[in-house]
Amino acid sequence: MHLNVVSICTALALCCLLPLDVYASPPLPQEKPLPGLGSSRFIEGVDVPAIKPATLPEELLAGPDDGGRKGSAGESSTPATCDIPGATFEQLAPMEGDQADEDCGITVPVNLSGLRGEDAEVTFPMKATLSCGFATSLTAWVIEDVLPIAQAQFGKPVSEFLTGPGYQCRRRNNLPDGKLSEHALGKAIDIAAFRLSDGTEISVEKDWARNTQSGSFLSAIHKAACKRFTTVLGPDADPNHKSHFHLDIGCHGKSCNYIICQ
Ligand SMILES: [Zn+2]
Repeated sequence: MHLNVVSICTALALCCLLPLDVYASPPLPQEKPLPGLGSSRFIEGVDVPAIKPATLPEELLAGPDDGGRKGSAGESSTPATCDIPGATFEQLAPMEGDQADEDCGITVPVNLSGLRGEDAEVTFPMKATLSCGFATSLTAWVIEDVLPIAQAQFGKPVSEFLTGPGYQCRRRNNLPDGKLSEHALGKAIDIAAFRLSDGTEISVEKDWARNTQSGSFLSAIHKAACKRFTTVLGPDADPNHKSHFHLDIGCHGKSCNYIICQ
């Protein structure tokens, strides 16, 4: 268990360091290791034991090497037609890594541009490039959790998600021998802000942990995300996530059935 926590904490520090190029959001810290990376100080800073959920969907329990190229989270090992109820997307040709990093890639990639809930339509202006499996989990979270929570909190729906690009062929922390980022498999997304149908913007950086409607909304959807993704990081995780949520379906622990929710 201790080893698991150490490895998870190390993974956290290296997880999500690329800046989001989202609207007027301020630039995020570049690829700098955290102070004391790997030291006990950092581990203490995120010292929340991994949770072994009782209800983690089976499709998320992929093996550690079951990357996006091999298929996971609902993907088969051969390219297939992606079907995501409620989502608007374009399926892309299978993506391979390049010479710089041949481990990157997605077997069944999609460009997710929007989705439709019961009474609301949501757009992703950045058209996030994601694996079909991850896009399916993301769509379910938005339709089943985010939209109802927004309706309850604000009396109106979320209409835009301000995200990063999703797919990025890179190693964690951009170290050549670092572990592959989940972004490099299309199994992760960064979300910096949400826009309501009346134009109100809810920013992770500005509104997180505030005693406001927007703060309550962010807290509630973060909590809900922890039931659908294996990694959910926000401003409480570390300084690299002070301005966005990082969601992914990567493997933590030997049996890949631990989640990180911070
Ligand atoms: Zn990220």
